[in-house]
Amino acid sequence: MAEIDLEEFHWLAAIVQGIDVGVVVLDRAYRVEVWNTFMENRSGLQPSQAYHRSFFELFPEVNEEWFRMKVESVATLGTPGFTVWEQRPYLVRFKNYQPITGREDFMYQNTTLLPLRSVNSEIGHICLVIYDVTDVAINRRQLQAVNAKLEGLSRIDRLTGLFNRDHWDECLRHEFARTQRYDSPLSLVMMDIDHFKAINDSFGYLAGDQVIQRLSELLREHIRDVDIAGRYSGEEFVVLLPDTGKDGGLVFAERLRTGVERLRVEHDGHVIPFTISLGVAQPTALCVDHHMLIEWADQALYSSKKGGRNQVSVYL
Ligand code: GH3
Ligand code: MG
Ligand code: MG
Repeated sequence: MAEIDLEEFHWLAAIVQGIDVGVVVLDRAYRVEVWNTFMENRSGLQPSQAYHRSFFELFPEVNEEWFRMKVESVATLGTPGFTVWEQRPYLVRFKNYQPITGREDFMYQNTTLLPLRSVNSEIGHICLVIYDVTDVAINRRQLQAVNAKLEGLSRIDRLTGLFNRDHWDECLRHEFARTQRYDSPLSLVMMDIDHFKAINDSFGYLAGDQVIQRLSELLREHIRDVDIAGRYSGEEFVVLLPDTGKDGGLVFAERLRTGVERLRVEHDGHVIPFTISLGVAQPTALCVDHHMLIEWADQALYSSKKGGRNQVSVYL
C-alpha cells in the first residue's frame, strides 16, 4: 500500500511538473513551496531560487492587500477562489512569447486558488494555478474592437461623417427628455442648401456631393463638443445645441450662414458658389414632443426660403 502511494506520488509530481499551467503552492506566510516547470520557464527562476521566498518579493507587481484578502477568504471558507482576465488581465506579469498573438507583450491569465488541507484537516497551504489565456483574450479584444467600429459606422453617414438620421433622431429624443427633466435650454438648427438642384444640373452630381462634404466640414468646425450634428436628408442638415437657447442658436446659425458665403468649393476648375437657409427653434411649454420641435425648426426654415433664401429665421 505504501509502495503504491509512493508511486502515485511520483506520478502526480511528474504531472504537476510537466503540465502546461503554472502551479505554485504557498504556505500561510506566502512563501513558495512548490514551483513547477511552467513557472520556472516563464519567470526564469529555478525552483531553488524561488523556494521559501515570499510571493510578494518574487512578484512585486501583485497588489498585496488585494491578494491577501483573496487568499484569506479561500483559507477561511475552504472553497476555491478565482481571478479572470476580463477583470484583471494578469496576476503575475509574464512576457507573452506567442509569436502569432504577439500584440500584447504580457501574458493574459486566469487563476484558480485552491485551499490545501493538511492531515490535521487545517488549511495550511494554498495552491495557485495560473492559466495562459492570451489567445482567447486577444481574439476577444480584437472582436470587440471590430464590433465597436461597426457599431460606430452604422451611426455615421458615409458621405459626410456626420450622424445619420436614425442616430441623430435618437440623440434628439434623448436631449429633448433631458431638457424637460432639468428645464435646461436647447435649440435645434435646421438648414438646407439653396437651389441645390441647380448645382447638380450645372456642375454634375459629383460636384453636388463635394458641396455637401464641404458644408459638413464647415459644420463640424463650427460646433462645440457637446453639439450634435446630423445629415437629415440629401442636402438638409440638423444641429442640436444643448444648453443653448434660441438667441444662441441664432448667433450660431448666422455664423454658419456667413461662413458658407465665404466658402470656396472648387470642382473641375470651377468655383461653385452656394448659400444655405436656416431655421432655429427652441422648445417651450407648448412643445409637446420632439417631433413638434422638428416641425417648428422646419417651419422657420421654410420662412427663410420664402423670405428669399440665404437667411436665418427663428420660430417664435
Ligand atoms: P431650395 O432652395 O428650395 O432648397 O431648392 P433645392 O433645389 O435645393 O431643392 P431641394 O432642397 O428640394 O433639392 C434637393 C435636391 O438635392 C434633390 C436631389 O437631386 C439633390 N440631392 C439629394 N441628395 C443628394 C446627394 O447626396 N448628392 C447630390 N449630389 N445631390 C443630392
Ligand atoms: Mg435645397
Ligand atoms: Mg432639401
